Amino acid sequence: MNLREIQNKIQRGQRLGLEDGAALFESNDIIRIGKLAHAARHKLHGRRVYYSVNYHLNHTNICKTGCDFCAFSRKGSESDAYTLSIDEIENKIEKAVSKWGVNEVHMVGGHNPALGFEYYRELFSRIRSRFPVLFIKALTASEIHDISERSGIPVEEVLKGLREAGLNSLPGGGAEIFDPEIRRRICPGKISGDEWLRIHRTAHRIGIPTNATMLYGHLEKAHDRVEHMLRLRALQDETKGFRAFVPIAFRSPKSGTDAGIRACGSVDDGFLHLKVLSIARLMLDNIPHLRVHWPATDLKFAQAALSFGPDHIGGTNLNEKVIRDAGGSAAEGLSSGDLVRFIREAGFEPVEIQGA
Ligand code: SF4
Repeated sequence: MNLREIQNKIQRGQRLGLEDGAALFESNDIIRIGKLAHAARHKLHGRRVYYSVNYHLNHTNICKTGCDFCAFSRKGSESDAYTLSIDEIENKIEKAVSKWGVNEVHMVGGHNPALGFEYYRELFSRIRSRFPVLFIKALTASEIHDISERSGIPVEEVLKGLREAGLNSLPGGGAEIFDPEIRRRICPGKISGDEWLRIHRTAHRIGIPTNATMLYGHLEKAHDRVEHMLRLRALQDETKGFRAFVPIAFRSPKSGTDAGIRACGSVDDGFLHLKVLSIARLMLDNIPHLRVHWPATDLKFAQAALSFGPDHIGGTNLNEKVIRDAGGSAAEGLSSGDLVRFIREAGFEPVEIQGA
């Protein structure tokens, strides 16, 4: 399958398959692939580029899972391990809302054995009653699974209970890469790819929208990335519950890894980032938003990448820690004015949205 044949397929409105995706990754014609992706995003969103005014809150860094690539988690006995009280969380959100006009909170943490279903229900109820219009995007599928297991409550009941308390959507974290062998090496303690998809299917079925991520630039090969995207596309055909796809470039953890993972960081990797974004836009024809996650690359790169398929530049990401702990060099959050300016400088029309 060459690029011309793939282009013809796209023009005939045919879907791309595994071989097409693999051929796109093999091609070095990033400009041509980027143009195809840009045309696809233009059909969906015109010149609009979306952003959100969001605040990252990591309520705990204590985690029993110990993924190989993670530089954020701590054992409970470590001196910098922490768990925020609900009062502390409320106060942090209060400050973020009054200082930056934040209208969305993105909350993820570790698999902390001390925090069960009742803690999260109380947490979301308190946030919801104090900030009625704040969008609460919280807890990865992996965290939901952990809460369900420890509390002895089925996943569906956990999700329903948390939604009643105030949860609006799930972020896309924990998907990493679905290939079981790679998962066994980089995050053996985490739920399987099948389980991740099952939890998102359940969330969609009961009306909770979610995002989906893909961690790339470590041990995976092109076909693993394409398989990952195709599994997301199949679930989206069934549920229509994904709002955004967010590919995340692997960063080198400060502590190094046992699985021998190399980090993105060279010029060639910039090339890879553009390919992943462009190919994702072409493969994932049913997921509305594609985000270039600027804290995992950098803002200048994200600006340029907007012409290669993405329609979403992410949020202000105020207080983002997980990627910074893994060596991300991007600023620790931006003002909404800065994001708007960056989008305009790249030649697009900024539009604020919640929850994508
Ligand atoms: S990636 Fe998440 S589950 Fe894995 S060790 Fe880090 S905090 Fe824990």
